[in-house]
Amino acid sequence: MLDDVSRRLATSDLLEKDSRFKIFFCNSSWRLWLYGQHFSDQVGADADTSITRNIYVRESDIASNRMIAPGGGSLADPVHRPLSYFIAHEAAHILVARQFGRLVSFQYPQWLMEGYADYVGKGGDFDFDENYHLFRINSPLMDFQQSGLYRGFHLRISLLLDKQGQTARQIFNHPASEKQIGELLENFAKLSNSASDK
Ligand SMILES: [Zn+2]
Repeated sequence: MLDDVSRRLATSDLLEKDSRFKIFFCNSSWRLWLYGQHFSDQVGADADTSITRNIYVRESDIASNRMIAPGGGSLADPVHRPLSYFIAHEAAHILVARQFGRLVSFQYPQWLMEGYADYVGKGGDFDFDENYHLFRINSPLMDFQQSGLYRGFHLRISLLLDKQGQTARQIFNHPASEKQIGELLENFAKLSNSASDK
């Protein structure tokens, strides 16, 4: 499971040789409530990006690389979100905080913070065309408010990193505005439509 976390983290150009993280499993609800920083036992995982490099994770089945959902139900999008996804996602938040300041979550918009963490967490397990199609048809899966998933944010980061060839450093040094990134996504549709017309 940790090897798979490392594989995912290797997709980040912010990862350094001496990057170290501590991972804590909170098997009892009260521990998650206390350490998870949300005063709730419903969270999946969280990272302390300001003081320590600690990652707190809810009760999980480590051997099968699976987080145990609150209430014993099933997690949303479990195929794309094994336990290693959640840990790499939180570690990505720590990498960003170490590079760009411990107060990053106040500086940068949610689409950038969560989109980048989702990008690193998924470790390449993201079909751009499929997700772009879901975005074009206004699928609730792409809307964080409706789905609780970061796919829509991830799509924006994929566009900048994979389609435009930017680096994470470039994106964080000069973050696009909500309007700019919206226009980029729209224009990408026009570009791909005209390419398929030919
Ligand atoms: Zn996150």
